[in-house]
Amino acid sequence: MTLACTGIGIGDGVAIGDAWLLRQGRVQLAPDQRHVGDVASEVARYRAAVTVAAEQLKAARGEISGDMPEDIAEFIDTHLLMLQDKVITDGPIKLIRQQGIRAELALQARRDALVDVFDRMEDPYLRTRKDDLDHVVQRIQRVLAGEHPEQVPNLAGRIVLADDITPADAVLLKQRGVAGFVTEYGSPMSHTAILARSLNIPAVVGAHGAVACLRHGETLMLDAAQGIVLADCDARTRAHFERRLGDQQHRRTALRSLRDEPAQSRDGECFELLANIELPDDVAEARRNGAQGVGLFRTEFLYMNRDQPPGEEEQYQAYRDALLGMDGLPVTLRTLDLGADKTVTGASQGGNPALGLRGIRLCLQEPTLFRPQLRAILRAAVHGPLNVMVPMVTTVWETLHVRALIEDVSRELAAEGVEHRADFPLGAMIEVPAAALAAPALAAELDFLSIGTNDLIQYTLAIDRVDDAVAYLYDPLHPAVLQLLQRVIDAGRAADIPVSMCGEMAGEPTHVALLAGLGLRRFSMQPGALLAVKERIRDLDTRRAQEYACQALAGQALPIA
Ligand code: PEP
Ligand code: MG
Repeated sequence: MTLACTGIGIGDGVAIGDAWLLRQGRVQLAPDQRHVGDVASEVARYRAAVTVAAEQLKAARGEISGDMPEDIAEFIDTHLLMLQDKVITDGPIKLIRQQGIRAELALQARRDALVDVFDRMEDPYLRTRKDDLDHVVQRIQRVLAGEHPEQVPNLAGRIVLADDITPADAVLLKQRGVAGFVTEYGSPMSHTAILARSLNIPAVVGAHGAVACLRHGETLMLDAAQGIVLADCDARTRAHFERRLGDQQHRRTALRSLRDEPAQSRDGECFELLANIELPDDVAEARRNGAQGVGLFRTEFLYMNRDQPPGEEEQYQAYRDALLGMDGLPVTLRTLDLGADKTVTGASQGGNPALGLRGIRLCLQEPTLFRPQLRAILRAAVHGPLNVMVPMVTTVWETLHVRALIEDVSRELAAEGVEHRADFPLGAMIEVPAAALAAPALAAELDFLSIGTNDLIQYTLAIDRVDDAVAYLYDPLHPAVLQLLQRVIDAGRAADIPVSMCGEMAGEPTHVALLAGLGLRRFSMQPGALLAVKERIRDLDTRRAQEYACQALAGQALPIA
């Protein structure tokens, strides 16, 4: 009989693939499995797992080729040293002997006690050791669970099952060719979900119970549009999914014919359709879908899946490559937006990360993080039309501070004789309600505004964008949100500066009429959505859209636009 798990679908694709269980969460054992009868053999099992983990690391070290960065070898050496430390070799064994518990639980208990110590450390470098500890512990847990790492690297055609997936994991999964993923937790506006859409990975998040119900290795059918994943399917269901995969491909091909058509409404209004990218390599996908520029380059993704932040030179090359790749089309680069759910190794988070040191707040406090990025940006600016925008702006003061820093960095580069430009347009992301309300003041100081609806909705409606328990409240059409959007668009028009939208709302064809009716003409979205949005625009009458927007602003029930 078919088994169905439901959650929140990300994207509208379907996938068929074998389940790959990614063990990353806490070990959960039923009460009757927690204790062992034979302590001596459990100790032996643990010792054997540590030995196997060390052998795996040595083998990985042996595979490092000469052209790989030295840090990788150092990274593995650190883990090998940890595996030989008494904390790992003896600590869990003591617990197995004292309490008669399973090796998995003993290891987890030792890990928790150590993490507590790391968390109390002030030194950020020492805090990063906590991540190393977690990697080492997870490696041993995987061995204890009978997993073999040689099966992990290639995920082509597989559907990954996990408790949760971080944005950094999503990038790795894509690189390994994953067909889709299913998570117990997560919500549709998390950065992981945004990445899944942008990387064209169909996914179902917030599927509570999926990890317990679905089995590693069994064939799954995933329907992201319906937020459902099926196991034990019969031939008829399988044929249905295969047909859907074919239709999906067919629709993509049909949309491709719009690539070079103008983004113009039936009544002749011109629109600008831009792409959101995470890494310079995404430029190719943006161009394939006819993007007229990059409206949001999320630069923080250069900082993920690594121990050390990228240096100035690496960042300069990434920004330059994006500009050259767009071949004269504009690129809007967003300065670092780290914090909240986008963390990097070693970063400390306050008690309420979404309201804490995130985006520009963090950058202004950490010049050692921000100045190399600004230097890289100014140097890259000579290679094409660059715009720069600042995330998480709350006050005009923050943008003035950024302008002053840009001028200072420009003087520094000039003194060093380094080629650069500092005369690019500077804008703010409007994603905090205070910034939307203060949009006229921001518009007076800046060259453009870009509305980040993902956060603007989160902060306006007071719902954590990564918490699936409140995902049902995430409503882009809430009259409070629409009034803020109208205010920002009006402020831009009054100050005669461009206003764009780069939140997920801009890439949703069903919202195009409403946004056009509010006066928005610049939309930036994940590249895969560009052609469907263009199709909608070409079928639009902006005068009717305006009436539609008025009704929505008044909170009236909406007819189909
Ligand atoms: C937004 O908040 O709408 C946005 C585009 O930024 P991010 O999703 O990266 O927070
Ligand atoms: Mg944001």
